[in-house]
Amino acid sequence: MSHPRQYIDEDKVKSLMTLRQLFWRLWPYMSRYKGSVYTIVAMVLVFTALGRVMPYLFGYAVDNGVAVKDMSIVVKIAIAYFLCEMTRVTLGLLHTFRMEKLGNRVLFDLRETLINHVQRLPTQYFDRNPTGRIVTRVTNDVLSLGDLFNQGFTAIFVCTLEMVAISVAMLLLSPVLTAWTLALAPLAAYLSIKVSQRARFYFSETKKKMAQQNAFTAESLNGMKVLQLFAQTHTRQNRFGELSNDYKEAQLNTVRQFALLWPIIGFFNVVTVASALLFCSLYQESLGLTIGQITTFLLLVQSFYQPIRTLLERYNQFQNSLAGADRIFTLLSEPTESEAGQMISVGDIEFKDLSFRYSPQDQYALSNVNMKIERGQSVALVGRTGSGKSTFISLLQKLYPISEGAIEISGVPLHDISILSLRRQLGVVQQDPFIFKGTLLSNITLHDESMSEERAKIALLRVGGGKILNRSDAGMKMRIEERGSNLSVGEKQILSFARVLAHDPKILILDEATANVDSESEKIIQSATDEVMKNRTCIVVAHRLSTIVKCDKIVVLDKSKIVEVGRHEELLAKDGLYAKYYNAGLAQNDLTI
Ligand code: ATP
Ligand code: MG
Repeated sequence: MSHPRQYIDEDKVKSLMTLRQLFWRLWPYMSRYKGSVYTIVAMVLVFTALGRVMPYLFGYAVDNGVAVKDMSIVVKIAIAYFLCEMTRVTLGLLHTFRMEKLGNRVLFDLRETLINHVQRLPTQYFDRNPTGRIVTRVTNDVLSLGDLFNQGFTAIFVCTLEMVAISVAMLLLSPVLTAWTLALAPLAAYLSIKVSQRARFYFSETKKKMAQQNAFTAESLNGMKVLQLFAQTHTRQNRFGELSNDYKEAQLNTVRQFALLWPIIGFFNVVTVASALLFCSLYQESLGLTIGQITTFLLLVQSFYQPIRTLLERYNQFQNSLAGADRIFTLLSEPTESEAGQMISVGDIEFKDLSFRYSPQDQYALSNVNMKIERGQSVALVGRTGSGKSTFISLLQKLYPISEGAIEISGVPLHDISILSLRRQLGVVQQDPFIFKGTLLSNITLHDESMSEERAKIALLRVGGGKILNRSDAGMKMRIEERGSNLSVGEKQILSFARVLAHDPKILILDEATANVDSESEKIIQSATDEVMKNRTCIVVAHRLSTIVKCDKIVVLDKSKIVEVGRHEELLAKDGLYAKYYNAGLAQNDLTI
């Protein structure tokens, strides 16, 4: 059954994380590959330094070669330049490659950590967060973080270094000339920042619109059957058109802002180079610079805006990666289920003054429950829809924390029992069993390597799964499609019974399906139920009279309270709520309430 879920608005686009914070959060993952990191840093340093050598070489060639007509110097410089550039290109290639490699390793580790973490999150987390969002964290967000590695980090590092290197080189040549030529730089910076802030706004709008469009598409696809049956596909189509248009507009706005950025940078670049040229020719004497030095200076000025441009170009992508990283680390900081606690061996189960509601605003789903289930006893839970049966068994599985009262197993409160120990002793057959894509075998063993194929097969046969087994030559290796789409409802039930039987839990929790199956399958499921209930403590949310009658104890729930407890005959004799249900459902062997 589904409940209105409260989704947390986590798909925020703007990141609260700065690049520096991100770096420190990523550092533990990178520091495993420290050697690589240091090599990359060293390569980038040399790469940048070599890039600044070129203007000096040219300047030197002009003064000592061209001016005095000494060709041997010019040739030497040309060779030096050639070697310099070749080394630089090689280093550029190497450091990009190594960075990608490092990035991929880190992402691999991060993905593993994420999946590991997600599997240990408490059930409530999955109530609050749609699957699609969690999948996005592990795939898309990790990918966008990957972009940061592949282009981002090196770009930031290289560009910052270049800016510093160019400024220092210029200052060394002539502080006065540098001051003159860069007088307009603050204005350029101001304008670029303004424009890129606007671009950032539109960019986050684009992301938001895209998220809306994706969510809408996903929902439409999931509900396609319903929409087609009710001939309502066209209404969705219109809505999709609107969303798609919003997205397009936002995207265009972003592009416009970016388009503005280039002319701004270009303009300042031209003005700076031109003014440098002008100053140099006007004041060459008073500046005390040689022609060669002027050449060097002009070449330096000319490349001054290049790194700024690259940085701004990548800016949005940084934002994107940051937002992705933010979401990843938010997910990683979600508290997992504690694995601490005692190991237990199962004895009696006792509910003591247990009251429970899903959230403080909700009504009590269970109130004042007091009861004892002795070891080996079977208990049937009976009651109307919404009376609290599923809640009862969820609490026993420790799916939700208990705040009022307690459940004790062998005298130990559930709170103090290690979740792993508890789950090893519990077997659950759900109303709507989940079937994985894989084989018959893997669906029974759930990839537990310690379980033999023989054991899985015996379990399947014991619950009457011979028919499924005979359906194909592959035997236990028979392929099962996603969500068991090549199995009938009854067969899925059988398979989930086999799963429980093979794992042989001390306590069985059974949420009986109410789905109608034909009478032959009904018989098979009945005997399968009997088979799995043998020799263990069982708590059954029962709908079948045949199951209920056999139980040692029937607990009747009504409006979150226990109203009657007893055996079948006792309760009939009492002529209360149970008797009423029984009489109503007597015609069929079905007490579906
Ligand atoms: P059914 O026979 O239909 O399965 P049930 O007896 O199992 O019903 P529960 O699922 O235990 O009923 O629900 C008891 C009450 O708790 C209901 O009012 C239900 O709406 C509410 N409830 C159940 N699960 C949640 C949840 N995850 N969040 C909020 N409320 C819930
Ligand atoms: Mg239920």
